[in-house]
Amino acid sequence: MSDLHPRTLIIEDDATIRHFVRLTLASEGHEVFEADGFQRGLIEAGTRRPDVIVLDLGLPDGDGVALIRELRTWSSVPVVVLSARSAEADKIAALDAGADDYLVKPFGAGELMARMRAQLRRHLHQTPSGDSVIRFGDVEVDLIKRTVSRSGEALHLTPIEYKLLVSLASQPDRVITHSQLLKTVWGPGHGDDTHYVRVHMANLRKKVERSPSMPKHLLTEAGVGYRFVLA
Ligand code: CA
Repeated sequence: MSDLHPRTLIIEDDATIRHFVRLTLASEGHEVFEADGFQRGLIEAGTRRPDVIVLDLGLPDGDGVALIRELRTWSSVPVVVLSARSAEADKIAALDAGADDYLVKPFGAGELMARMRAQLRRHLHQTPSGDSVIRFGDVEVDLIKRTVSRSGEALHLTPIEYKLLVSLASQPDRVITHSQLLKTVWGPGHGDDTHYVRVHMANLRKKVERSPSMPKHLLTEAGVGYRFVLA
């Protein structure tokens, strides 16, 4: 692929939204492919090999969440889902199935482009394997020594806080749901204990964020989970 002309696939049965996404992305240099349903979408994803997919969850011939599950068996392409405001549960199910981010309809061109840029950045500049240090702001996480420091001063994180930080910071720009964090950090069997995540996140922010009440890196996605951003 090329940095300048990313290949984008939009899977959406609503022709108006498809058209809007195509126009917006084409004006930014994207090569855009379209599919109007589940089956066609999977075929296009396989043959066009897009760099990013925009996926509507309500498709006439199948469920967008099922499409993500199928796609994830052979592809790690970033997926941004389009969801209706009323469909909070679908959005979370899509993220749990492996979607990377979401847009709530109706969305504007600026919002769409910001999401696409973030996903392409992630896709193109994945932390190269072998890079064992994550840096953001003046914080440094050493994945081998399992230490965290700020401006060279050691930060004392509990094992839970450390795991929480690493699960988020190793996947920048991705929305991680409460249940994904519970599974990764606490292990299976903690299904709905989202208050654990909130409590430990508050403590973690106090340690790594300059201004814990206005975090710059560990952002809340209301009702869904968290998103780590580098800048
Ligand atoms: Ca639809």
